[in-house]
Amino acid sequence: DNTRVGHLMSRIVNDLRDISELAHHGPEDVFIASLMLIGSFLYLITINVQLTLIAFVFVPFIGWYAIRMRHRMSEAFRLERERIAEVNADLENSLSGMRVAKSYTNEDYEMNRFDNANVNFREARVRAFKHMAEYTSGLDFLTNLLNVAVLGAGGLYMYYGIIDLADLTAYLMFISFFLQPIRRLTAFTQQYQQGMSGFRRFVELMEINPEIVESPQAVPLAEVKGHIQLNNVSFEYHERAPVLHDVNLDIEPGKTIALVGPSGGGKTTLCHLIPRFYDVTKGEILIDGKDIRDLELYSLRKNIGLVQQDVFLFTGSIKDNILYGNPTASDAEVIEAAKNADIHEYIMGLPEQYDTYVGERGVMLSGGQKQRISIARAFLKNPPVLILDEATSALDNVTEYIIQKSLDK
Ligand code: ADP
Ligand code: MG
Repeated sequence: DNTRVGHLMSRIVNDLRDISELAHHGPEDVFIASLMLIGSFLYLITINVQLTLIAFVFVPFIGWYAIRMRHRMSEAFRLERERIAEVNADLENSLSGMRVAKSYTNEDYEMNRFDNANVNFREARVRAFKHMAEYTSGLDFLTNLLNVAVLGAGGLYMYYGIIDLADLTAYLMFISFFLQPIRRLTAFTQQYQQGMSGFRRFVELMEINPEIVESPQAVPLAEVKGHIQLNNVSFEYHERAPVLHDVNLDIEPGKTIALVGPSGGGKTTLCHLIPRFYDVTKGEILIDGKDIRDLELYSLRKNIGLVQQDVFLFTGSIKDNILYGNPTASDAEVIEAAKNADIHEYIMGLPEQYDTYVGERGVMLSGGQKQRISIARAFLKNPPVLILDEATSALDNVTEYIIQKSLDK
């Protein structure tokens, strides 16, 4: 309820990519660089010990600089990641509400919102690049200083005849083999920053405990008769905002009951308590005499069909959406379910019939058609307990009557 879809998408896509990049290239880079560093050091020391020691004096400085900058860069990359998640979330929101935006002619408002998120993102990115620039140019400066020192000392040594021209030439050529792994290792630290900040954010996400947990002693719900009891059930989404207060209900197997009440009265909430999308704050809900908190979630939900008030259709064909109720059903069963939901004839009139694409969230269908497809989906599941949350609100009386008769059947 409290997390934005765009945020989750950003974490799953971007953060995981950074982690896999690190896992893929990191070990290889470290291995090759260390081998080159040790190998070139050993080789250089056979040519001239003093020059090599001069060169190595710089290594602690380079290391110190890299580590000092690491922290700042890591913070900057983390901020950048957070801001891009914000952009993604805003964009997701604006795109899915596009019709509302257009009908209220709020394109400028949406544009502004997008711009604001982008400005924030750019700010963070500029900062990240600034730190990166300081980091790479600082390192370049230090390694070039190392080069100059070796060149100067080598020239001096040759002048005094400590080293001959051939050795100095070989030395200067091989010093680049020595610098290459240093650069490689510093490039690795940057990849490490990105990968680890992605990893930290991903761990944060994975450490969130679901509020609904199955008890270790949970038993499966089998051979359901459908006796549902609510005993003194109270429920609140947030403290001090109670929705249900001391509700008692006894629904015998095979009975159909209707809940009538004002909008915002808690009807949908009650529907969501039975499949345990939320846990009751007080009291208990029993199915066939067993507290639903002692049942395996999978088996509980397997036995409950819920047609929700805000119908959700998946992107795909009509058939895919009905099949969602029971993916192993045959074509004949799908057609039977569609007939019962009084949508078969409409589907047969479409050019591609059951394979017709419904668009994202079913935008290509009318409200009533979407409702009937979601009812067909529930019919195909054919569960012992069926909950309809204003499932026929968008249907005309005749269609509603046909569906009620199918329900009775
Ligand atoms: P009904 O279906 O009877 O119209 P609901 O069960 O949807 O009513 O809502 C009952 C109350 O619970 C409303 O006051 C609503 O604001 C609140 N509510 C519904 N869903 C949530 C939620 N996910 N988080 C917080 N409050 C909610
Ligand atoms: Mg409702």
